[in-house]
Amino acid sequence: MSKFWSPGVEALTPYVPGEQPRQRMIKLNTNENPYPPAKGVERILRHFDIDTLRRYPDPTSIALREALAHEHGVKPEQVFVGNGSDEVLAFAFRAFFCRSEPLLIPEHTYSFYPVYCQLYGLELKKLPLNERWEVALDQLPADGHGGIAFANPNAPTGHAHERSALQGLLERQRERVVLIDEAYAGFGAESAVPLIDEFPNLLVTGTFSKSRSLAGLRIGFAIGSSELIEGLERIKDSFNSYPLDPIASAAAIASLEDGEHYQRCCKAIMKTRQHTHEALETLGYTVLPSKSNFLFASPSQESAAAAFARLRENGILVRYFDRPGLSDWLRISIGNDEEMKALVDVLRHEPGQ
Ligand SMILES: *Cc1c(COP(=O)(O)O)cnc(C)c1O
Repeated sequence: MSKFWSPGVEALTPYVPGEQPRQRMIKLNTNENPYPPAKGVERILRHFDIDTLRRYPDPTSIALREALAHEHGVKPEQVFVGNGSDEVLAFAFRAFFCRSEPLLIPEHTYSFYPVYCQLYGLELKKLPLNERWEVALDQLPADGHGGIAFANPNAPTGHAHERSALQGLLERQRERVVLIDEAYAGFGAESAVPLIDEFPNLLVTGTFSKSRSLAGLRIGFAIGSSELIEGLERIKDSFNSYPLDPIASAAAIASLEDGEHYQRCCKAIMKTRQHTHEALETLGYTVLPSKSNFLFASPSQESAAAAFARLRENGILVRYFDRPGLSDWLRISIGNDEEMKALVDVLRHEPGQ
């Protein structure tokens, strides 16, 4: 508390990211990728022309937007880029959801959404997940709200709806923006991007942090109708004209150029996910089916808090949410095979032994 803070700053509950430990640990708590970025990214960093840094970067990031447009089969004016998808989401909430009606989000989804709502003073309405821990698309009312936002695959559950189900939702939602956060695209879910031409109110966000191993460079994007993208640009240019630096832009383009590396890493993660899923079930865990690079799993022999603590003592970090409805579960990022074996080995030993 400080007398210098604007009113309301003290009342904020900021997002708490997963811990970044200083000592070496097996890090399975923030859904980072265990594999290195594409080789082309290394070449960009090694040969980057330092003199470029004297200049401001291109405020429109047109080269990266063109590369993303090519990758996703859309036009550059349907693409927006920003400093991590967290920033893109913050702009989107400002551009589309600051209305008198409440924003609808699922009860369990990316926990940054309520933080933006609080920051902007938006009313929020949370809808329970269905009995299979899925976003209950059929429970979303057709009107009386200021917009809808959820992650697909969802976090921390890992469940993804098929494109046909998202299309069904959009057919009932014509008046407000539907934001689908595809941070975990690439690990087996269908993307909603092919629906953007039919639904001018659909905004899909994505990131280079998870499937492209570039969390450290902070590169996020959004794809939607040029109408929505223009709205985002208006917010961006009222906040920061240059959210993406030239190093990040060039690295992102190099990553997009190596589709083979991307496919190979995603496939390896999906394979490891399958093995880990089976191994945890053998240990008596309930494990939800996942289309993301993490598993949401609940132990049967000890509390999730105890399993979390035991893993931590053994140098393995996973994510534990001490929150109503989630406190029986662990969210475990998929690392490489060796890391997942170490995790299963620790969990296999009965507590107390
Ligand atoms: C990780 C994550 C993000 C943030 O990604 P950045 O691009 O690293 O900011 C956004 N949404 C969800 C659901 C995520 O899990």
